[in-house]
Amino acid sequence: MASSGAAHSDVIVIGAGLAGLACTADLLRAGLTVRLLEASDAVGGRMRTDTVDGFRLDRGFQVFNTSYPQVKRRLDLAALRLRPFTPGLLLDHDGERVRLGDPTRRPHPVADLIPGRFASARDLGALALFSARDLLAPPALLRRGPERTTRAALSAAGVSSALIETLLRPFLAGVFLEDGLETSSRFFHLVWRSMLRGSLCLPAAGIRAVPDQLAAALPGGTVRLRSPVLELQDGGVVLGDGTSLSAGTVVVATGASAAHALLPTLKIPAGRSVTTHYHAAARSPLAEPTLLVDGAGMLLHTSVLTEVAPTYSTDGRALISSSLLAPETPGQEAAVRSRLAELYRTDTSDWEHIGCRTVIDALPAMTSPHPLMRGTRLEPGRYICGDHRATGSVQGALASGSRAARDILADRRQGA
Ligand SMILES: Cc1cc2nc3c(=O)[nH]c(=O)nc-3n(C[C@H](O)[C@H](O)[C@H](O)COP(=O)(O)OP(=O)(O)OC[C@H]3O[C@@H](n4cnc5c(N)ncnc54)[C@H](O)[C@@H]3O)c2cc1C
Repeated sequence: MASSGAAHSDVIVIGAGLAGLACTADLLRAGLTVRLLEASDAVGGRMRTDTVDGFRLDRGFQVFNTSYPQVKRRLDLAALRLRPFTPGLLLDHDGERVRLGDPTRRPHPVADLIPGRFASARDLGALALFSARDLLAPPALLRRGPERTTRAALSAAGVSSALIETLLRPFLAGVFLEDGLETSSRFFHLVWRSMLRGSLCLPAAGIRAVPDQLAAALPGGTVRLRSPVLELQDGGVVLGDGTSLSAGTVVVATGASAAHALLPTLKIPAGRSVTTHYHAAARSPLAEPTLLVDGAGMLLHTSVLTEVAPTYSTDGRALISSSLLAPETPGQEAAVRSRLAELYRTDTSDWEHIGCRTVIDALPAMTSPHPLMRGTRLEPGRYICGDHRATGSVQGALASGSRAARDILADRRQGA
Protein backbone atom coordinates (compact mmCIF):
# COMPACT_ATOMS: atom_id res chain seq x y z
CA MET A 1 0.00 0.00 0.00
CA ALA A 2 1.37 3.40 -0.96
CA SER A 3 1.96 5.88 1.82
CA SER A 4 1.31 9.60 1.46
CA GLY A 5 4.27 11.86 1.82
CA ALA A 6 2.02 14.48 3.39
CA ALA A 7 2.37 15.16 7.08
CA HIS A 8 0.32 13.38 9.69
CA SER A 9 -2.68 15.42 10.83
CA ASP A 10 -4.47 15.46 14.15
CA VAL A 11 -7.79 14.74 12.49
CA ILE A 12 -9.07 13.44 9.15
CA VAL A 13 -12.68 14.35 8.38
CA ILE A 14 -14.31 12.25 5.64
CA GLY A 15 -16.93 14.11 3.61
CA ALA A 16 -17.19 17.83 2.82
CA GLY A 17 -20.95 18.24 3.21
CA LEU A 18 -22.26 20.64 5.83
CA ALA A 19 -21.47 18.32 8.74
CA GLY A 20 -17.86 17.78 7.67
CA LEU A 21 -17.36 21.47 6.94
CA ALA A 22 -18.72 22.52 10.34
CA CYS A 23 -16.69 19.90 12.20
CA THR A 24 -13.52 20.89 10.36
CA ALA A 25 -14.03 24.60 11.03
CA ASP A 26 -14.51 24.04 14.77
CA LEU A 27 -11.48 21.76 15.09
CA LEU A 28 -9.25 24.19 13.18
CA ARG A 29 -10.44 27.03 15.38
CA ALA A 30 -9.35 25.00 18.41
CA GLY A 31 -5.84 24.74 16.94
CA LEU A 32 -5.85 21.17 15.58
CA THR A 33 -4.49 20.20 12.18
CA VAL A 34 -7.29 18.81 10.00
CA ARG A 35 -7.56 17.27 6.54
CA LEU A 36 -11.02 17.23 4.98
CA LEU A 37 -11.31 14.49 2.35
CA GLU A 38 -14.09 14.71 -0.22
CA ALA A 39 -14.88 12.00 -2.76
CA SER A 40 -16.44 14.22 -5.41
CA ASP A 41 -15.20 17.21 -7.41
CA ALA A 42 -16.60 19.91 -5.11
CA VAL A 43 -17.71 20.50 -1.56
CA GLY A 44 -21.38 20.62 -0.56
CA GLY A 45 -22.61 17.04 -0.61
CA ARG A 46 -26.36 17.24 -1.03
CA MET A 47 -26.22 21.02 -1.46
CA ARG A 48 -24.84 21.36 -4.98
CA THR A 49 -25.94 23.46 -7.95
CA ASP A 50 -25.23 22.75 -11.62
CA THR A 51 -25.33 25.30 -14.40
CA VAL A 52 -27.21 23.92 -17.42
CA ASP A 53 -27.89 26.10 -20.49
CA GLY A 54 -27.46 29.18 -18.29
CA PHE A 55 -29.95 27.95 -15.65
CA ARG A 56 -28.99 27.21 -12.06
CA LEU A 57 -30.28 23.75 -11.20
CA ASP A 58 -29.97 22.78 -7.56
CA ARG A 59 -29.45 19.07 -7.12
CA GLY A 60 -33.03 18.67 -6.01
CA PHE A 61 -35.23 21.59 -5.04
CA GLN A 62 -34.48 22.82 -1.56
CA VAL A 63 -34.95 25.97 0.42
CA PHE A 64 -32.64 27.74 2.82
CA ASN A 65 -34.08 28.68 6.20
CA THR A 66 -32.55 31.75 7.84
CA SER A 67 -33.72 31.01 11.36
CA TYR A 68 -31.78 27.83 12.09
CA PRO A 69 -29.45 28.55 15.05
CA GLN A 70 -26.43 27.00 13.32
CA VAL A 71 -27.10 29.05 10.20
CA LYS A 72 -27.18 32.27 12.20
CA ARG A 73 -24.00 31.28 13.98
CA ARG A 74 -21.90 30.21 10.99
CA LEU A 75 -23.00 32.02 7.85
CA ASP A 76 -22.78 35.55 6.53
CA LEU A 77 -26.37 35.79 5.31
CA ALA A 78 -25.87 39.11 3.52
CA ALA A 79 -23.07 37.60 1.43
CA LEU A 80 -25.42 34.81 0.31
CA ARG A 81 -27.66 37.44 -1.38
CA LEU A 82 -30.77 35.60 -0.25
CA ARG A 83 -34.04 35.93 -2.15
CA PRO A 84 -37.14 35.08 -0.09
CA PHE A 85 -40.21 33.07 -0.95
CA THR A 86 -43.55 34.61 -0.02
CA PRO A 87 -44.26 33.47 3.54
CA GLY A 88 -46.85 30.69 3.50
CA LEU A 89 -47.94 28.72 0.47
CA LEU A 90 -50.53 28.26 -2.22
CA LEU A 91 -52.42 24.97 -2.28
CA ASP A 92 -54.17 23.61 -5.35
CA HIS A 93 -57.25 21.87 -3.98
CA ASP A 94 -59.44 20.30 -6.68
CA GLY A 95 -58.46 23.03 -9.13
CA GLU A 96 -59.03 25.85 -6.64
CA ARG A 97 -56.13 27.86 -5.21
CA VAL A 98 -56.10 28.29 -1.46
CA ARG A 99 -53.55 30.47 0.30
CA LEU A 100 -52.13 29.53 3.67
CA GLY A 101 -50.37 32.64 4.88
CA ASP A 102 -48.32 33.42 7.90
CA PRO A 103 -50.55 35.59 10.09
CA THR A 104 -47.54 36.77 12.09
CA ARG A 105 -46.20 38.71 9.08
CA ARG A 106 -49.08 39.90 6.94
CA PRO A 107 -52.48 41.02 8.12
CA HIS A 108 -54.63 39.43 5.42
CA PRO A 109 -53.19 36.21 4.01
CA VAL A 110 -55.28 33.80 6.06
CA ALA A 111 -58.29 35.19 4.21
CA ASP A 112 -58.67 32.07 2.10
CA LEU A 113 -58.99 30.03 5.24
CA ILE A 114 -61.99 31.94 6.52
CA PRO A 115 -64.28 29.64 8.48
CA GLY A 116 -66.52 27.52 6.33
CA ARG A 117 -64.76 28.24 3.05
CA PHE A 118 -61.93 25.79 3.41
CA ALA A 119 -61.38 25.25 7.11
CA SER A 120 -63.69 25.32 10.11
CA ALA A 121 -63.34 27.94 12.85
CA ARG A 122 -62.26 25.11 15.14
CA ASP A 123 -59.45 24.14 12.73
CA LEU A 124 -58.29 27.73 12.40
CA GLY A 125 -58.19 28.03 16.19
CA ALA A 126 -56.19 24.80 16.49
CA LEU A 127 -53.74 25.92 13.80
CA ALA A 128 -53.28 29.31 15.42
CA LEU A 129 -52.80 27.83 18.88
CA PHE A 130 -50.09 25.30 18.07
CA SER A 131 -48.39 27.78 15.74
CA ALA A 132 -48.27 30.39 18.51
CA ARG A 133 -46.87 27.84 20.90
CA ASP A 134 -44.20 26.70 18.42
CA LEU A 135 -43.31 30.29 17.62
CA LEU A 136 -42.91 31.42 21.22
CA ALA A 137 -41.80 28.35 23.17
CA PRO A 138 -38.08 27.88 23.79
CA PRO A 139 -36.69 25.19 21.47
CA ALA A 140 -35.65 23.10 24.48
CA LEU A 141 -39.32 22.78 25.41
CA LEU A 142 -40.23 21.58 21.91
CA ARG A 143 -37.37 19.08 22.01
CA ARG A 144 -38.76 17.68 25.27
CA GLY A 145 -42.37 17.59 24.06
CA PRO A 146 -44.32 14.35 23.52
CA GLU A 147 -42.67 12.14 20.90
CA ARG A 148 -45.24 10.74 18.44
CA THR A 149 -45.99 10.88 14.75
CA THR A 150 -46.76 14.27 13.21
CA ARG A 151 -50.25 12.99 12.37
CA ALA A 152 -50.86 12.13 16.04
CA ALA A 153 -49.52 15.52 17.12
CA LEU A 154 -51.79 17.39 14.70
CA SER A 155 -54.80 15.38 15.86
CA ALA A 156 -53.89 16.00 19.50
CA ALA A 157 -53.67 19.73 18.70
CA GLY A 158 -57.31 19.57 17.58
CA VAL A 159 -56.78 19.79 13.80
CA SER A 160 -59.48 17.81 11.99
CA SER A 161 -58.52 14.87 9.84
CA ALA A 162 -60.11 16.73 6.90
CA LEU A 163 -57.68 19.66 7.20
CA ILE A 164 -54.78 17.31 7.86
CA GLU A 165 -55.54 15.43 4.65
CA THR A 166 -56.33 18.38 2.40
CA LEU A 167 -53.68 20.86 3.53
CA LEU A 168 -51.07 19.71 6.02
CA ARG A 169 -50.26 16.27 4.67
CA PRO A 170 -49.65 17.50 1.09
CA PHE A 171 -47.49 20.39 2.32
CA LEU A 172 -45.50 18.41 4.88
CA ALA A 173 -44.88 15.58 2.38
CA GLY A 174 -42.58 18.06 0.63
CA VAL A 175 -40.76 18.82 3.87
CA PHE A 176 -40.37 15.27 5.20
CA LEU A 177 -40.25 13.52 1.79
CA GLU A 178 -42.86 11.04 3.03
CA ASP A 179 -46.60 11.40 2.68
CA GLY A 180 -47.86 9.45 5.67
CA LEU A 181 -47.04 12.04 8.39
CA GLU A 182 -45.01 9.35 10.18
CA THR A 183 -42.18 11.76 10.95
CA SER A 184 -41.31 12.63 14.54
CA SER A 185 -43.57 15.31 16.02
CA ARG A 186 -40.61 16.89 17.81
CA PHE A 187 -38.89 17.45 14.50
CA PHE A 188 -42.14 18.76 13.03
CA HIS A 189 -42.60 21.35 15.79
CA LEU A 190 -38.99 22.52 15.48
CA VAL A 191 -39.31 22.86 11.69
CA TRP A 192 -42.69 24.61 12.02
CA ARG A 193 -41.08 27.03 14.49
CA SER A 194 -38.19 27.72 12.14
CA MET A 195 -40.59 28.39 9.25
CA LEU A 196 -42.59 30.83 11.39
CA ARG A 197 -39.50 32.62 12.71
CA GLY A 198 -37.31 32.73 9.61
CA SER A 199 -37.56 33.21 5.88
CA LEU A 200 -37.40 30.48 3.29
CA CYS A 201 -34.94 31.68 0.67
CA LEU A 202 -32.72 30.82 -2.25
CA PRO A 203 -29.18 32.19 -2.44
CA ALA A 204 -28.75 34.19 -5.67
CA ALA A 205 -25.96 31.84 -6.79
CA GLY A 206 -27.88 28.65 -6.02
CA ILE A 207 -28.02 26.44 -2.95
CA ARG A 208 -24.33 25.54 -3.34
CA ALA A 209 -23.45 29.06 -2.17
CA VAL A 210 -24.06 27.84 1.39
CA PRO A 211 -21.35 25.13 1.56
CA ASP A 212 -19.11 27.21 -0.72
CA GLN A 213 -19.11 29.98 1.85
CA LEU A 214 -18.24 27.57 4.67
CA ALA A 215 -15.42 26.06 2.60
CA ALA A 216 -14.05 29.47 1.60
CA ALA A 217 -13.49 30.27 5.28
CA LEU A 218 -11.16 27.27 5.73
CA PRO A 219 -7.40 27.72 5.25
CA GLY A 220 -6.19 26.82 1.75
CA GLY A 221 -5.21 23.18 1.41
CA THR A 222 -7.59 21.92 4.12
CA VAL A 223 -10.03 20.35 1.65
CA ARG A 224 -8.82 17.63 -0.66
CA LEU A 225 -11.29 16.93 -3.47
CA ARG A 226 -11.58 13.72 -5.54
CA SER A 227 -10.27 11.77 -2.56
CA PRO A 228 -12.72 8.98 -1.79
CA VAL A 229 -11.90 7.07 1.36
CA LEU A 230 -12.04 3.35 0.70
CA GLU A 231 -11.56 2.08 4.22
CA LEU A 232 -10.67 3.06 7.73
CA GLN A 233 -7.56 1.59 9.28
CA ASP A 234 -5.83 1.90 12.63
CA GLY A 235 -4.49 5.44 12.81
CA GLY A 236 -5.88 6.70 9.53
CA VAL A 237 -7.63 5.93 6.26
CA VAL A 238 -6.96 4.36 2.88
CA LEU A 239 -7.99 6.30 -0.23
CA GLY A 240 -9.42 4.85 -3.41
CA ASP A 241 -6.03 5.05 -5.13
CA GLY A 242 -4.41 3.00 -2.34
CA THR A 243 -2.74 5.94 -0.62
CA SER A 244 -2.89 5.79 3.16
CA LEU A 245 -3.16 8.93 5.25
CA SER A 246 -2.54 8.98 8.97
CA ALA A 247 -4.29 10.86 11.75
CA GLY A 248 -4.90 10.33 15.46
CA THR A 249 -8.62 10.87 14.96
CA VAL A 250 -10.96 10.06 12.08
CA VAL A 251 -14.44 11.54 11.67
CA VAL A 252 -16.89 9.89 9.26
CA ALA A 253 -19.00 12.84 8.03
CA THR A 254 -20.59 11.20 4.99
CA GLY A 255 -24.25 10.51 4.31
CA ALA A 256 -25.82 7.43 5.90
CA SER A 257 -25.20 4.86 3.14
CA ALA A 258 -21.58 5.88 2.65
CA ALA A 259 -21.07 5.75 6.42
CA HIS A 260 -22.45 2.23 6.42
CA ALA A 261 -20.03 1.24 3.65
CA LEU A 262 -17.11 2.40 5.80
CA LEU A 263 -18.58 1.08 9.05
CA PRO A 264 -20.58 -2.05 8.18
CA THR A 265 -21.84 -2.62 11.73
CA LEU A 266 -23.31 0.89 11.93
CA LYS A 267 -27.12 1.05 12.10
CA ILE A 268 -28.46 3.70 9.75
CA PRO A 269 -31.97 5.01 9.09
CA ALA A 270 -33.79 4.37 5.82
CA GLY A 271 -33.48 7.13 3.24
CA ARG A 272 -36.14 9.33 1.63
CA SER A 273 -35.71 10.07 -2.05
CA VAL A 274 -37.04 12.83 -4.27
CA THR A 275 -37.06 13.81 -7.94
CA THR A 276 -37.08 17.38 -9.25
CA HIS A 277 -37.85 18.33 -12.85
CA TYR A 278 -36.77 21.69 -14.22
CA HIS A 279 -38.60 23.41 -17.10
CA ALA A 280 -38.00 26.71 -18.89
CA ALA A 281 -40.91 28.82 -20.11
CA ALA A 282 -40.91 31.99 -22.20
CA ARG A 283 -43.14 33.69 -19.61
CA SER A 284 -43.55 33.11 -15.89
CA PRO A 285 -46.73 31.09 -15.30
CA LEU A 286 -47.21 32.57 -11.80
CA ALA A 287 -45.97 36.06 -11.02
CA GLU A 288 -45.25 35.32 -7.38
CA PRO A 289 -42.27 33.86 -5.48
CA THR A 290 -44.30 31.17 -3.81
CA LEU A 291 -44.56 27.45 -3.30
CA LEU A 292 -47.57 25.90 -5.05
CA VAL A 293 -48.48 22.63 -3.33
CA ASP A 294 -50.30 19.96 -5.31
CA GLY A 295 -53.19 18.89 -3.11
CA ALA A 296 -53.83 15.89 -5.38
CA GLY A 297 -50.38 14.56 -4.53
CA MET A 298 -49.10 13.84 -8.03
CA LEU A 299 -46.42 16.47 -7.37
CA LEU A 300 -45.19 17.54 -3.96
CA HIS A 301 -44.92 21.15 -5.04
CA THR A 302 -43.85 23.40 -7.86
CA SER A 303 -42.35 26.86 -7.91
CA VAL A 304 -41.22 29.47 -10.41
CA LEU A 305 -37.65 29.77 -9.18
CA THR A 306 -36.93 32.87 -11.22
CA GLU A 307 -39.71 34.70 -9.37
CA VAL A 308 -37.72 34.00 -6.21
CA ALA A 309 -34.21 34.49 -7.61
CA PRO A 310 -34.06 35.95 -11.15
CA THR A 311 -30.38 34.91 -11.17
CA TYR A 312 -31.47 31.28 -11.66
CA SER A 313 -31.85 32.15 -15.38
CA THR A 314 -29.53 34.12 -17.63
CA ASP A 315 -31.73 34.53 -20.72
CA GLY A 316 -34.87 36.01 -19.17
CA ARG A 317 -36.87 32.79 -19.43
CA ALA A 318 -38.66 31.52 -16.33
CA LEU A 319 -37.29 28.44 -14.57
CA ILE A 320 -39.87 26.17 -12.97
CA SER A 321 -39.04 23.40 -10.52
CA SER A 322 -41.43 20.56 -9.75
CA SER A 323 -40.71 17.81 -7.25
CA LEU A 324 -42.25 14.41 -6.65
CA LEU A 325 -41.53 11.45 -4.43
CA ALA A 326 -41.20 8.87 -7.21
CA PRO A 327 -37.81 8.20 -8.80
CA GLU A 328 -37.44 9.28 -12.43
CA THR A 329 -39.14 6.86 -14.83
CA PRO A 330 -39.72 6.87 -18.61
CA GLY A 331 -42.75 8.99 -19.41
CA GLN A 332 -42.67 10.77 -16.08
CA GLU A 333 -41.72 14.14 -17.57
CA ALA A 334 -44.79 14.12 -19.85
CA ALA A 335 -47.04 13.38 -16.87
CA VAL A 336 -45.39 16.16 -14.85
CA ARG A 337 -45.78 18.62 -17.75
CA SER A 338 -49.45 17.78 -18.08
CA ARG A 339 -50.03 18.23 -14.33
CA LEU A 340 -48.20 21.56 -14.51
CA ALA A 341 -50.63 22.71 -17.21
CA GLU A 342 -53.47 22.12 -14.72
CA LEU A 343 -51.69 23.67 -11.75
CA TYR A 344 -50.55 26.80 -13.58
CA ARG A 345 -53.66 26.92 -15.81
CA THR A 346 -51.56 27.41 -18.89
CA ASP A 347 -50.33 25.56 -21.97
CA THR A 348 -47.04 23.87 -21.09
CA SER A 349 -46.50 22.05 -24.39
CA ASP A 350 -43.79 24.49 -25.49
CA TRP A 351 -41.92 24.43 -22.17
CA GLU A 352 -38.39 23.14 -22.50
CA HIS A 353 -37.32 20.35 -20.18
CA ILE A 354 -33.96 21.53 -18.85
CA GLY A 355 -33.13 18.66 -16.54
CA CYS A 356 -34.14 16.22 -13.86
CA ARG A 357 -32.43 15.32 -10.59
CA THR A 358 -33.35 12.23 -8.59
CA VAL A 359 -31.67 12.28 -5.18
CA ILE A 360 -31.64 8.88 -3.54
CA ASP A 361 -31.41 9.27 0.24
CA ALA A 362 -32.05 13.00 0.05
CA LEU A 363 -33.10 12.88 3.70
CA PRO A 364 -32.81 10.25 6.40
CA ALA A 365 -36.18 8.90 7.53
CA MET A 366 -37.14 10.47 10.86
CA THR A 367 -39.99 8.11 11.62
CA SER A 368 -41.26 8.47 15.17
CA PRO A 369 -39.73 7.67 17.62
CA HIS A 370 -36.68 9.53 16.41
CA PRO A 371 -33.87 10.90 18.59
CA LEU A 372 -33.08 14.47 17.57
CA MET A 373 -29.36 13.95 18.16
CA ARG A 374 -27.34 10.75 18.32
CA GLY A 375 -23.90 10.40 19.86
CA THR A 376 -20.79 10.93 17.76
CA ARG A 377 -18.31 8.64 19.55
CA LEU A 378 -17.77 5.25 17.88
CA GLU A 379 -14.59 4.06 19.56
CA PRO A 380 -11.40 5.78 20.71
CA GLY A 381 -10.17 7.95 17.84
CA ARG A 382 -13.28 7.38 15.67
CA TYR A 383 -16.28 9.66 15.45
CA ILE A 384 -19.33 10.06 13.25
CA CYS A 385 -21.54 12.97 12.26
CA GLY A 386 -23.99 13.95 9.54
CA ASP A 387 -27.70 14.67 9.26
CA HIS A 388 -28.49 10.96 9.75
CA ARG A 389 -27.15 11.33 13.30
CA ALA A 390 -29.46 14.27 14.02
CA THR A 391 -32.23 15.58 11.76
CA GLY A 392 -32.41 15.66 7.97
CA SER A 393 -31.86 19.37 7.62
CA VAL A 394 -29.21 22.03 7.28
CA GLN A 395 -29.53 22.62 11.02
CA GLY A 396 -29.20 18.90 11.79
CA ALA A 397 -26.10 18.43 9.64
CA LEU A 398 -24.31 21.51 11.00
CA ALA A 399 -25.27 20.72 14.61
CA SER A 400 -24.05 17.15 14.28
CA GLY A 401 -20.69 18.31 12.87
CA SER A 402 -20.43 20.82 15.65
CA ARG A 403 -21.14 18.15 18.26
CA ALA A 404 -18.50 15.80 16.85
CA ALA A 405 -15.91 18.58 17.14
CA ARG A 406 -16.97 19.31 20.73
CA ASP A 407 -16.71 15.62 21.66
CA ILE A 408 -13.28 15.28 20.04
CA LEU A 409 -11.95 18.32 21.88
CA ALA A 410 -13.42 17.15 25.19
CA ASP A 411 -11.88 13.67 24.76
CA ARG A 412 -8.49 15.15 23.91
CA ARG A 413 -8.61 17.30 27.03
CA GLN A 414 -9.24 14.15 29.05
CA GLY A 415 -6.50 12.26 27.20
CA ALA A 416 -8.95 9.73 25.72
C1 LIG B 1 -33.36 17.44 -2.58
C2 LIG B 1 -33.05 17.84 -1.18
C3 LIG B 1 -33.87 18.78 -0.55
C4 LIG B 1 -33.56 19.20 0.74
N1 LIG B 1 -34.31 20.19 1.31
C5 LIG B 1 -33.91 20.72 2.48
C6 LIG B 1 -34.56 21.88 3.00
O1 LIG B 1 -35.45 22.44 2.34
N2 LIG B 1 -34.17 22.35 4.21
C7 LIG B 1 -33.16 21.76 4.93
O2 LIG B 1 -32.83 22.22 6.02
N3 LIG B 1 -32.52 20.65 4.45
C8 LIG B 1 -32.87 20.14 3.25
N4 LIG B 1 -32.22 19.06 2.75
C9 LIG B 1 -31.27 18.35 3.61
C10 LIG B 1 -29.87 18.93 3.66
O3 LIG B 1 -29.41 19.31 2.39
C11 LIG B 1 -28.98 17.82 4.23
O4 LIG B 1 -29.50 17.44 5.49
C12 LIG B 1 -27.53 18.22 4.42
O5 LIG B 1 -27.01 18.87 3.28
C13 LIG B 1 -26.71 16.97 4.74
O6 LIG B 1 -25.37 17.30 4.97
P1 LIG B 1 -24.35 16.19 5.47
O7 LIG B 1 -23.03 16.86 5.62
O8 LIG B 1 -24.90 15.48 6.64
O9 LIG B 1 -24.25 15.09 4.32
P2 LIG B 1 -23.88 15.22 2.73
O10 LIG B 1 -24.35 16.53 2.21
O11 LIG B 1 -24.44 13.99 2.14
O12 LIG B 1 -22.31 15.21 2.72
C14 LIG B 1 -21.56 14.06 2.78
C15 LIG B 1 -20.30 14.21 1.91
O13 LIG B 1 -19.50 13.05 2.07
C16 LIG B 1 -18.91 12.74 0.81
N5 LIG B 1 -18.51 11.33 0.83
C17 LIG B 1 -19.30 10.23 0.83
N6 LIG B 1 -18.55 9.11 0.89
C18 LIG B 1 -17.26 9.50 0.94
C19 LIG B 1 -16.03 8.81 1.02
N7 LIG B 1 -15.98 7.48 1.07
N8 LIG B 1 -14.87 9.53 1.03
C20 LIG B 1 -14.90 10.89 1.00
N9 LIG B 1 -16.05 11.59 0.92
C21 LIG B 1 -17.22 10.91 0.89
C22 LIG B 1 -20.03 13.04 -0.17
O14 LIG B 1 -19.54 13.19 -1.50
C23 LIG B 1 -20.60 14.33 0.41
O15 LIG B 1 -19.96 15.47 -0.12
C24 LIG B 1 -32.48 18.62 1.45
C25 LIG B 1 -31.67 17.66 0.82
C26 LIG B 1 -31.95 17.31 -0.49
C27 LIG B 1 -31.02 16.35 -1.17
